[in-house]
Amino acid sequence: RAKEEGRGRYRIFESSMDEAVQEKVALSPDLRNALADDQGLSVHYQPQIEILTGRVIGYEALIRWNHPVRGNIPPALFIPIAESSHLICDVGYWVLRQAAFQAKEWLDAGVPTPTIAVNVSAAQIWNSDLVSDVGKVLAESDLPPHLLCLELTESLLMDQNESRVRNVLKSLKEFGVTLALDDFGTGYSSLGYLTQLPFDKLKIDRIFIDGVNTSQRSTELLRGIIALGRGLGMTTIAEGAETQEEVAVLRELGCDQIQGFFFARPAPADEALAYALRMAADALVAATPDRYQA
Ligand code: C2E
Ligand code: MG
Ligand code: MG
Ligand code: MG
Repeated sequence: RAKEEGRGRYRIFESSMDEAVQEKVALSPDLRNALADDQGLSVHYQPQIEILTGRVIGYEALIRWNHPVRGNIPPALFIPIAESSHLICDVGYWVLRQAAFQAKEWLDAGVPTPTIAVNVSAAQIWNSDLVSDVGKVLAESDLPPHLLCLELTESLLMDQNESRVRNVLKSLKEFGVTLALDDFGTGYSSLGYLTQLPFDKLKIDRIFIDGVNTSQRSTELLRGIIALGRGLGMTTIAEGAETQEEVAVLRELGCDQIQGFFFARPAPADEALAYALRMAADALVAATPDRYQA
């Protein structure tokens, strides 16, 4: 009986695999069209908050795709399709441009610290000229480079020529942009690269935050990761804090920044900005002695 069930399950698995493959085949031309016509793609922004002050210190740019027939398709689904169909470099460039122009607009409007973080796929290092693309976007948008942060994952180090990575990252740093290591702790690399590569910021993956207030072992692991980042001179940011309790633990452990649903979800530029301004107003009120408050 168990054997039969097992076989049944295998068949289901197999047919859902077929569907997944079919979906990929079907979606990649649609994505190509979306890029070509500039239709259906947009960028949402999620605030990043400095824990000690509660100030919004930047935003992560996250791509959104509203498919003409299928509606919103999450990046977790279409980014891998973009990766395997070589569209990811175009996608990455498109988001970089949008985000840089948005940040410059905010800067000109007087928004405090409109730092913008953009995800960069490893493929952009291997299959495109990332350094010249970043240079071009900075020049055209006139965004001060220190307001641009590029987020890379450990996957860029997998069985590849490390000196190429090092040279590209070095050139990017020479522009004055900052570099963040995204999804830290979920990759397969050895830790050795941390001393070799010029990352400014460590983004601690959500798996290390989830439930950290209820498990002593999780708390200790997180404490260690924060100490590691701090010891190497990096800013630490926790991804995906969803509850007040998680935020409290992160604050106690000395994590510098938080990006998570507890504070704000990714949203269109105007909404993200409205949120930031509200936070700034609240912080101002909190910092003002009672006798000055109306
Ligand atoms: P990521 O770069 O690690 O981005 C953070 C993801 O975590 C975002 O998902 C964000 O919505 C989600 N998140 C933030 N706070 C919370 C929280 O408190 N709880 C939960 N459950 N999730 C939270 P999103 O926007 O769906 O993007 C998923 C991934 O897709 C990104 O992970 C990134 O790897 C990729 N991606 C998104 N935009 C781009 C892009 O422009 N280029 C590239 N190459 N990848 C992108
Ligand atoms: Mg990211
Ligand atoms: Mg991440
Ligand atoms: Mg992620």
